[in-house]
Amino acid sequence: MSKDERLVKQITPKTEDFSRWYIEIIQKAELADYAPMKGMMVIRPYGYAIWENIQALMDRRIKATGHVNAYFPLFIPESFLQKEAEHVAGFSPEVAWVTVGGKEELEERLAVRPTSEAIIGYMYSKWIKSWRDLPLLINQWANIVRWEKVTRPFLRTTEFLWQEGHTCHETEEEAQKETLLILNLYKEFVETELAIPVLSGRKTLREKFAGAEETFAIEGLMSDGKALQMGTSHNLGQHFSKVFNIRFEDRSQNLQYVWQTSWGVSTRLVGALIMSHGDDSGLRLPPRIAPVQVVLVPISLGNWKESVLPAARAAAAGLREAGVRVHLDDREEFTPGWKFSEHEMRGVPLRIEIGPRDIKSGQAVLVRRDTFAKTAVPLANLVPRVKSLLEDIQVSLFREAQAFLAENTREAAGYEEFKDIIETKRGFVKCLWCGREACEDQIKEDTAATIRAIPMEDEGRPVQGICVCCGREAKAVAFFARAY
Ligand SMILES: [Zn+2]
Repeated sequence: MSKDERLVKQITPKTEDFSRWYIEIIQKAELADYAPMKGMMVIRPYGYAIWENIQALMDRRIKATGHVNAYFPLFIPESFLQKEAEHVAGFSPEVAWVTVGGKEELEERLAVRPTSEAIIGYMYSKWIKSWRDLPLLINQWANIVRWEKVTRPFLRTTEFLWQEGHTCHETEEEAQKETLLILNLYKEFVETELAIPVLSGRKTLREKFAGAEETFAIEGLMSDGKALQMGTSHNLGQHFSKVFNIRFEDRSQNLQYVWQTSWGVSTRLVGALIMSHGDDSGLRLPPRIAPVQVVLVPISLGNWKESVLPAARAAAAGLREAGVRVHLDDREEFTPGWKFSEHEMRGVPLRIEIGPRDIKSGQAVLVRRDTFAKTAVPLANLVPRVKSLLEDIQVSLFREAQAFLAENTREAAGYEEFKDIIETKRGFVKCLWCGREACEDQIKEDTAATIRAIPMEDEGRPVQGICVCCGREAKAVAFFARAY
């Protein structure tokens, strides 16, 4: 191995120091870099290409369910934020303020949006007059600023990118239906495209969005056993419509406040990809989200430019024509071994090697990033084989993550068992809870675990048993975990 190859390959093993492993992948795969301002990151082209794929696939789903995109201002007047008491209390500790414009002191401070309910609510009050204006289904792709104390690239940064949907409805039932429609859309998206299985369910009042009636979320389990909230969908009830006076004339000519929802996923999903699928050689990207699905590396031996390169170019062209995102890495200044490591680090799902000997036998060698399994494939069959392998890698990554989730979801009957699992094994602990915040607080203090989701499948059925913490009669089944 040359010195260069080691430079690409060497990262801290995941089991030795998970946080360091995570940061090293981000840096070596060139996903992001630290900005000179504390808590801020620069998303580099490769990381941004992953985000663009997430955006495109999510945007398609948002539009297919009848939503349209718009764009609202970055700044929100302080008085707007203050209208909803819980909202301002929840967000004010992390708001960045603009107090001066040019050389003039502003009469009213402007918040850099920590979320957009307030400004959007104000605009909706101007746009909505009648039931005929409903439902109003708008999404925006935007940046958000929250002044976080502890930051980590993609998971929690002062500025991040997201989409936020904001909808208005005639009835409470419709708003609840929308909230769950999006929750299910997020679950389907993350499982299908990112190959990450998730739990979905309600949040407790303690964990809900500031200003929401109720919050629902999808939660993934990262490979260090900690949970990550990967998307939220809020039923806002009439909290914002009452303070922003968003009223409509209903079908019987009575004035009513609209029922609202809001929901979002963010660049945090890139962090989830790393922590769910990455290994000691770097990133492993699911093909559907990978900016480069296949890298073709001609083996530079002898007169390879004459003997190998034309065949490699033809193979790349054939794959591109078939809709595969392929990159031909014909750089002369790097050895094939160096290129292998680099593309492994970047998580390219499939590598094709073509050398002088392969040309003679009319074949190419395919190497899967997920398992490193190698197969020789006749050049004539390359396109169908690559396509089926990419599908197989997508499914395999999902199954692997699914098995991990199943193995790391445990049940606890008593508190000692609960504490032992959280302390020694982590993962999700499924148990019974009395519904009291006192127990949530106690558990958080004792173990740093919180309720990640209250599953909805069993709702309506009576819960039999006692709370894992206090021994009182249980009201709900809950999934606890330590979380990012
Ligand atoms: Zn309890």
